[in-house]
Order: sequence, then C-alpha cells, then structure tokens
Amino acid sequence: MSFDQITWMWSNGEFVEWRDASVHISTHTLHLGSGVFEAIRCYDTNNGPAAFRLDAHLDRLYSSASIHSIDIPYTHEDLTDAVTELICRNDFSSCYIRMLCYHGSGSLGVLPNNCPVELAILAWPLGAYLGSHALEHGVRVTISPWVKFSSRMMPTTAKARGQYLNSLLAVRAAVKEGFDEAILLNEEGTIAEGSGENLFLVRDGRVITNDEKSSILLGITRDAVIRIARDLGYEVEIGPIRVEDLLSADEAFFTGTAAEVTPIREVDGKQIGTQERGPITYEIQQAFFAATSGQDPRYQHWLHSVRQPAAAAMLF
Ligand code: PMP
Repeated sequence: MSFDQITWMWSNGEFVEWRDASVHISTHTLHLGSGVFEAIRCYDTNNGPAAFRLDAHLDRLYSSASIHSIDIPYTHEDLTDAVTELICRNDFSSCYIRMLCYHGSGSLGVLPNNCPVELAILAWPLGAYLGSHALEHGVRVTISPWVKFSSRMMPTTAKARGQYLNSLLAVRAAVKEGFDEAILLNEEGTIAEGSGENLFLVRDGRVITNDEKSSILLGITRDAVIRIARDLGYEVEIGPIRVEDLLSADEAFFTGTAAEVTPIREVDGKQIGTQERGPITYEIQQAFFAATSGQDPRYQHWLHSVRQPAAAAMLF
C-alpha cells in the first residue's frame, strides 16, 4: 500500500491537494476517537471504475452517525458526487476509499461541544489486504485473548472510530505471534469476527455465518456473500458460531471490503478442512469477483460507475 499516487482528497466540501491536507491538533477526534467512518472499494470493470455498493456504504455511514448523534452536514447525493469526482480526479482505475466523519476543533471535554462535524474522503490504490498470497492460499489466524466489545458497551453495528482499538490490540498480538489475523470471541464466548472482517464457515455443503447478536459489524461484503451463496444454490444458516464449529468446519473464510473473500486455512495451528482454499470458498470467491468486476449482470446494480459524466455520455 502506498499513498504516493494520491493527488487529491476531499475535505469538507472541497477538493484539496493531498500534500496540503491538514487538521488542527485540537481536533476532538484526535483526543477521544469520536466520529464514524466508512471504507469502500472501487473496482476496475469493463465500463471503467465502479464503486462497489456505494449506496449501502453511505447508508451505513448515516446510520453509524445517527447512533452516535452526529448530523452529517452533506446529503447522500453530495457524498456520492464527492466520491465519484475524487476517483476521477486521481485517475484511479481501482482504489480503496475511506470516508471519515469526525469532530473538529472547538472543545476537548468528553462531549464534543462546539466541535464542528467535519468530513474527509481519501482514496488510494490497495491490493489484497491480507496479502496477494492470502486470496489463493488462505490465512493463518489465532483466537485472540482480547474479547470483542459487546453492544452493551458500544454499538457493534456502527462503524465508529475509537472502537478499532479493540481490533488493533487483537491484530497486533496476533501478528507478533506470527499469525496473519486475529479472530475475536464475544462476551458469550462464541465467535464474533476478525479484526476487520466477518467470518463464514462451510459445513456439509451449508454456508454458515453469525449476525449482530454475536457482536459483529454487519458487513456489506457479508451481505453480498450471503446473497451470492444463496444464488449459487447454497443454504445459508445464520446463528452463533462456536470455536469448535470453526475448528471442525470443512472450510472457513473472512469477508470484508478490504479482505474481500479470504480463505482461512489454519486456526492456531489446526488446519481447517483439507485444502488451503476449499471448493465452496473458491466458488463464492469467483462469483464475488465476477460481481465486483461487472462480469455478472445479476449484480450490476451493486456497481456505481465513477466515470465523469462527459466520458460516460460518450459511450452511447
Ligand atoms: N467487521 C469489522 C470489525 C470491520 O472493520 C469490517 C470492515 N468494514 C467488517 C467486519 C466487514 O465489513 P464490510 O464488509 O462492510 O467491509
């Protein structure tokens, strides 16, 4: 990953040159982690770059903001246009997009009184989050000693900024021990999710995942994969997943905007199934990439074209 190719970012309604971007040190979010955010991928398709499930990500941004009593001072349409133009200005054919909604400078008590709600959008080229090897050969993970916070502590369905310290503790400890990623259990002791991914199992031809009752973020990739798996004819079961279910699964994989569909090949040294990437994981992964690349017309509505209007018009 590198920021070298970024020329433009978007900040509070304006396009700003990347090298000129700055925030004041008294920004509330820098002190207390207040605010919410989104992460979106833009894929290279036959019709040019397209943001995958942009509407769903924006809906989740507004929903996360509402949970945390933040009024975003831009409309869905404003933000759609901002993302679209940002990708065009940077001339990216594919990229990862971060939208940050944060409390700016005004006061530094716990309540962000007089702190304006600010919004920034960044975009940069990003390959496979867990490494290019991971998509084909799978990742080695560990069950973290850190417990995923429960929704009685903080709403897990909101994508809020400070809560990622929980994920950070887990993944840092995992990587230090030589693993690729951590899986966090929830307070009940069943599986919650990865530090930045949802988790799926495959058992006896059925696809299994958990839901918000297991203290997870309801991933947009998770939703896409549930639909894809059903369209492929698999029964999808949704409910709590125990550690022993994972250890005895035929296959397991992570889903996430960054991680896409990444097979899990080993949990704490125990191999999952008999192959690095199981056959159903592979089938779902292929179908997912057919959707993101615009090759499957059934999922065309998930792609938001980011061509400049003039360039798009020239196509017809
Ligand atoms: N769980 C957590 C904790 C995450 O950070 C993410 C990444 N946003 C996910 C799950 C997957 O969500 P999505 O598919 O919407 O990226």
